[in-house]
Amino acid sequence: MTEIGMRPHLLLLTTPSSYRLPAFLDAAGRIGVKITVAEDTPPALSRPLPGRLLIDFSDRAAALQAIRNLHANQPLSAILPVDDSGVELAALACADIGLPFNRPEAAAAARDKHLMRQLFARAGVPSPAFRLCTTADDLPALVQTVTFPCVVKPLRLNGSRGVIRADNPAQCLAAIRRLTALLDRIEGAGVHEFLIEDFVPGFEVALEGLIDHGQVRVLALFDKPDPLDGPFFEETIYVTPSRLPEATQAAICAVTAAAARAVGLERGPLHAELRINERGPWMIELANRSIGGLCSRTLRFGTDASLEELILRQAAGLPVDTLSREGQAGGVMMIPIPQAGILRAVDGVAEACAISGIEAVEITAPLNYPLTPLPEGDSYLGFIFARGSDPATVEAALRAAHACLRFTIVPAIELVPATVSM
Ligand code: ADP
Repeated sequence: MTEIGMRPHLLLLTTPSSYRLPAFLDAAGRIGVKITVAEDTPPALSRPLPGRLLIDFSDRAAALQAIRNLHANQPLSAILPVDDSGVELAALACADIGLPFNRPEAAAAARDKHLMRQLFARAGVPSPAFRLCTTADDLPALVQTVTFPCVVKPLRLNGSRGVIRADNPAQCLAAIRRLTALLDRIEGAGVHEFLIEDFVPGFEVALEGLIDHGQVRVLALFDKPDPLDGPFFEETIYVTPSRLPEATQAAICAVTAAAARAVGLERGPLHAELRINERGPWMIELANRSIGGLCSRTLRFGTDASLEELILRQAAGLPVDTLSREGQAGGVMMIPIPQAGILRAVDGVAEACAISGIEAVEITAPLNYPLTPLPEGDSYLGFIFARGSDPATVEAALRAAHACLRFTIVPAIELVPATVSM
């Protein structure tokens, strides 16, 4: 808690490439809280920077010491993860300096798909059957024992990176090999753990919430009208409010609340993905962070508060007056990368912006840089935002705007080191 008259001081944990930070800084300015940003930085690039802590999140002891030092000089009211990278460190640092937040074990489970699945299973939260495997297993034998269709996935990546559906043993083996190559590149060559899960058929929703003393307060439920049936699972359109029947929405909220309890999350933002079929909602995943990319721009609350304002207010112990969304429907399309290559040109943005209901088209992929689609990639070409009287109008506007966009992507020329024969 802060002393009366002092501005709350919040530490935001983020990565240098995060799309999310500007929205949090903007919200902090609006509500008048003081912010320090801690950026996950490799030790070689660390340097003193006013208002920023450049620390290596994976060096827990050093990161905790840096946060302790900051707190000693400028007492903190809260520590918040802006994206997945800071979830565990935020919980550890809060426990370390005595601020209320999530238990480190709960934060760890929110970051690890295997721990999470185990907790869901133990608590009876509907979620897919799973099996923990390693790349050192006898893979040709393993894939003969899998139930199909299945989903192969890494334990700790996000944004659907490395998540691949397989319908038979040959596809499963290929998916594991592809995931292994990706994990070798990201984490270094070695033995990697991964999950094989039953594929849950159905359609998908995303729930955005705030957890307060263990209670999930739902901020928005997004329908994802494009089918997500694999083999890769790229996000496209999100539209809120949901068009699902009230009873289905209530069931989704109940499963999400049970999932948050199972993981042990008690505070802060919540982003959950669920699939729904004739047997009801299934929890695919929950995270102790808010919605990714620039998607939060679709949400406005009460008299024009942003999602980030609500999150910062809650963290700072300031009153959160309203959790109800403004009356209009809103939507976003994350523009998928259609093929690998170098992005040379983007045309049609003005036509897309002229479509009724379109608020903005933001191309975030830089020109002349390589594009990597899923399952290896971790970004989108950009975002289209729409608002309208109802969800169907918003969805139609997003599709019409996307149809206006033309991306020129040329093959990347791979540079292979020359070999000199003697
Ligand atoms: P990430 O954290 O990388 O987003 P998820 O586990 O949430 O990984 O999976 C990403 C997407 O893959 C999900 O939103 C869903 O569309 C799909 N998916 C993952 N697991 C399953 C499953 N068991 N059955 C069906 N679809 C799945």
